[in-house]
Amino acid sequence: MPEERRRVSWRDRYPDEVTCVRCLQLRDQVDLDRLLWCTRCRALARNRASWMGWLGGALFGGGVALYIWGVIQPTDLVVGGWIATVVAAVWIGSKVARELVYGVMRIRNVHAAEAMPPDTAQEGPTP
Ligand SMILES: [Zn+2]
Repeated sequence: MPEERRRVSWRDRYPDEVTCVRCLQLRDQVDLDRLLWCTRCRALARNRASWMGWLGGALFGGGVALYIWGVIQPTDLVVGGWIATVVAAVWIGSKVARELVYGVMRIRNVHAAEAMPPDTAQEGPTP
């Protein structure tokens, strides 16, 4: 019956079990997103992006701190307010950096990034 025609979606192109491009494990199709990343790999990528984000945030906050102490040179009276500014800079910087890192991971879409081939697992990642 025509009413029962399903909405055509990208999922229709794939069978029920699909290989995740990141870890190369066979996953249920509902676990995969449009880039064929499974839930676990997305979580791993998010986690990694989060660490890189804090690094980026710390660098950004450090830059802001250097600017405040070197250029603005606050008096002791207002130093608390500037510390709050630096903390805010680290926090916002980490969020921005995390989204950037995750976005870059998604765009580059490195295949098999989470996969561990049994024979090369000892050698570590190769460029
Ligand atoms: Zn995966």
